[in-house]
Amino acid sequence: MTSKPSLTCEALLGDAARRIAGDTSRLDAELLLDHVTGIGRSGFRAFPEREVEPRLAAQFEDLVVQRVQGMPVAYLLGHQEFWSLPLNVSKSTLIPRPDTECLVEQALELHLPDDARVVDLGTGTGAIALALASERPGWVVSACDLMDDAVALAQANASSLKLPVEVFQSRWFAGLPAGSFDLIVSNPPYIASGDNHLAEGDVRFEPASALVSGADGLDDIRLIVSEAPFWLNPEGWLLLEHGFDQAEAVQGLLATRGFAKVESRKDYGGNDRMTLGQWPRQGALHAQ
Ligand code: GLN
Repeated sequence: MTSKPSLTCEALLGDAARRIAGDTSRLDAELLLDHVTGIGRSGFRAFPEREVEPRLAAQFEDLVVQRVQGMPVAYLLGHQEFWSLPLNVSKSTLIPRPDTECLVEQALELHLPDDARVVDLGTGTGAIALALASERPGWVVSACDLMDDAVALAQANASSLKLPVEVFQSRWFAGLPAGSFDLIVSNPPYIASGDNHLAEGDVRFEPASALVSGADGLDDIRLIVSEAPFWLNPEGWLLLEHGFDQAEAVQGLLATRGFAKVESRKDYGGNDRMTLGQWPRQGALHAQ
């Protein structure tokens, strides 16, 4: 008979960290063991020899196996922090990325009215809308998503954070109630359908509808840019996240549509990751 493996925290963590790939393997293991035991990451350091009940060790092992197969930690935990807000996540939405916090920072730098009307298109977990609502209590922030599950999740995140964001089921603008905005912000799908990067890392487990947008990745951005002027107040802004190599193309779309002050901004990695433009007071609404 083989002897039972030791079920101390340290033994479990060491074993899991060796099996999980990537440079965050130890962190991943600690997050998963904390999720199951509630001991806390500082607890693992203070009491590495603490024993874990076999039932909990089995639950941990189940999570480790999924992580070894590539399942993102955020999906295994069911939550992810964004802009210091604890958000629930589910497999029906993209996991909020730190780089998208740059989009929030950019939105907060715009000179908008104190009671600005703002919409986040394709909100997923609600991350962008909720971050903006948390920073600007005077803004009237709404959000939409095509997927019912995402709408429900964003609504649940808004109510658990007690942030007044109204969430609509809508394919971009199509299902929004009539009105106009001072800011339209979106992190739409922007990956080209044949992009190799879809076969790597977390994106393998994320919904394609939140990632992929036609042959050049720009189908949804083209649609948003074309429709946005009908939904913007004069001097309202459109602010879009896009791929690291799409800034020039997105600038071209905005400029051609008649936006002014078209510029791109960088993410934390130094890539031109977002582009914004202002709808001029005398803008020509008909599509060009
Ligand atoms: N930035 C994400 C990635 O490359 C994609 C997000 C998106 O398509 N909106 O993993």
